[in-house]
Amino acid sequence: MTSAPSAPRKPLMPLDDALAQLLAAVAPLSAQEAVSTFDADGRVLAVAVVSGLQVPGFDNSAMDGYAVRAEDLLNGLHELHVTQRIAAGSTGQRVEPGTAARIFTGAPVPPGADAVVMQEDCELLSDGSDPAPARIRVKGVPLPGQHIRHAGEDVQQGQCVLPAGTRLGPAELGLAASIGMAQLPVVRKPRVALLSTGDELVMPGAVAPQDMPPGAIYNSNRFFLLNLLRRMGCEVADLGIVPDDRAATIGALQRAAADNDVILTSGGVSVGEEDHIKPAVQSLGTLDLWQIGIKPGKPFAHGRIGAAHFIGLPGNPVSSYVTFLLLVRPFLLRLQGVQDVAMKSIAARADFDWPKADKRREFLRVRRNANGGLDLFGNQSSGVLTSAVWGDGVVDVPPGQPVLYGQTVRYIPFSELLA
Ligand code: AMP
Ligand code: MG
Repeated sequence: MTSAPSAPRKPLMPLDDALAQLLAAVAPLSAQEAVSTFDADGRVLAVAVVSGLQVPGFDNSAMDGYAVRAEDLLNGLHELHVTQRIAAGSTGQRVEPGTAARIFTGAPVPPGADAVVMQEDCELLSDGSDPAPARIRVKGVPLPGQHIRHAGEDVQQGQCVLPAGTRLGPAELGLAASIGMAQLPVVRKPRVALLSTGDELVMPGAVAPQDMPPGAIYNSNRFFLLNLLRRMGCEVADLGIVPDDRAATIGALQRAAADNDVILTSGGVSVGEEDHIKPAVQSLGTLDLWQIGIKPGKPFAHGRIGAAHFIGLPGNPVSSYVTFLLLVRPFLLRLQGVQDVAMKSIAARADFDWPKADKRREFLRVRRNANGGLDLFGNQSSGVLTSAVWGDGVVDVPPGQPVLYGQTVRYIPFSELLA
């Protein structure tokens, strides 16, 4: 990556503008497929899920204890005959005045009963062994309705529980299952071609560390990009390494465009003579976005080759990682029909100084400490991937602003960006 001789510098596009432009270019995928609810984690709902029943389906006990008529106890009766036993999955008979039903969590509250007394608040007066029925003494007076989970308090029949465009996670899958959905209609997976560029790249396993030729490095971007894409619900065509050569780059991009929704490249998108991506994309299609005002991650590009989107990420591993999280992730979510793709930052205290303000908006790798503040990783170089492993998130520093020790900053956890 060598700098071009000094041409007048255009201000770089701000991240928010670049993201808005990127999202505006997305036509969400319309094709859908039904997948097992077991396998729908990370996928996006194509159609709203509406409940055909109420949840819970019936009034049921929230405790192990006794179902009683509150009125009996309100009227001064404290000893009740236990005339039935209702376990989860079974049903009971009417609770007559002066009686109680032994009941367990999740069992339907029998007719006649209007409160459950937990077993800790009852004294067993006889052991209930046949044929004598058990008797209990109830401590205190229950409130009508206590410890009863009411029919429909979770979900009403006809309620939309998950709107179209919902990204499904474990909780959503559980909720869908609770209303009987064994399959879910989801948006088809985006097809993404992944290309790594660089003559210096060697695959782990192809050459042992002690045999690495001078100047060679292992291809690390390919590993995190492939797995980030999979996490985003994509079907990845990993097209390997493209040499730093114009014709080879054009050929690879052409093949990738043929049957993919997105082509994602890393490296080769800067301004040096060995950076062939930009001219190759321009010769095959259009380049709509090139370079943005963030650090790390300036060499980011978006364009079109035929029907496919082209997205070029920087080669430097941290730049590649951060630009994926900040730009490619929301792009891929929107492609699958997710509306709210904005990243949510939270206020946190910087337990560090970052005195040298940069012209670009910076994303510093940090980690929460035990005192409720953020520590800074010592080396913020865009090639230092250990910063992304040590860190548990980034601080979003506005352009031209230093960070002073103790200052409140905007923190974005990686857990937010990797989900
Ligand atoms: P480039 O954008 O191609 O100029 O690459 C910038 C820096 O990132 C160079 O030091 C490259 O060697 C490095 N780099 C590019 N691609 C990869 C990759 N796939 N894995 C690790 N480092 C890379
Ligand atoms: Mg390169």
